Amino acid sequence: MNPGIIQTKEAMATATNAVAQQSAEETKPLTIGVLALQGDYEAHARAFAQAGARTVLVRKPEELKGLDGLVLPGGESTTMLKFLEKKGFFDTLGEFVANTPCFATCAGCILVAREVLHPKQRSLGVLDATVERNAYGRQIDSTILTLPTELPGGPLEMVFIRAPRITRVGPGVEVLAKRNGFPVLVRQGNLLVATFHPEMTSDARVQQLFLEMVRRHKSGSLQSATAPAGMPTTS
Ligand code: GLN
Repeated sequence: MNPGIIQTKEAMATATNAVAQQSAEETKPLTIGVLALQGDYEAHARAFAQAGARTVLVRKPEELKGLDGLVLPGGESTTMLKFLEKKGFFDTLGEFVANTPCFATCAGCILVAREVLHPKQRSLGVLDATVERNAYGRQIDSTILTLPTELPGGPLEMVFIRAPRITRVGPGVEVLAKRNGFPVLVRQGNLLVATFHPEMTSDARVQQLFLEMVRRHKSGSLQSATAPAGMPTTS
């Protein structure tokens, strides 16, 4: 038999296996980690479980392995920082946030920002933005607002609790919602950030958006991991 034909058959079998493997991976539920050092991580885990994801609470750097995405919850960023620094977790988390889909809310937003003010505070520096802590006042000034967003389905209820204010965003940051002209929901590549608490309302559109980002990222990496050499990796 013509060796060219055998080679072609083998290549086709490899490609078919790769496609089967990829679609098996794609139908698995997404595994979403929730950083559980402090704050309202349980509410996030519940919201993502309801949205159809498998959720895992993350307390150690090694627990980041195998996650499709990670949530950095609201709470108290100074306390989270203390835990991150004590466990040598800070650098591993910074690298993870830079390379994997992450969803950061409130204190999480403070942790991922490039610059934190009021007062100045160490941060992972992934989101090209300046964030002012407690910018709307004290606990008593916390509020619930329904504001327009770029998400399909009309205005969104937003719970602000001692929320930070994003006062500057870089050119690579897409603003999906604003409060009084300041961004409250932004996206930079695989990083979705809210200064409010989507896990505290029954509207799951922000979680759905994040899961969609995670799905897209996962199928992109699966395509490049399973495509035989020479096969196009984009559709
Ligand atoms: N005020 C908190 C901080 O500075 C954030 C509040 C929240 O996460 N709801 O870390």
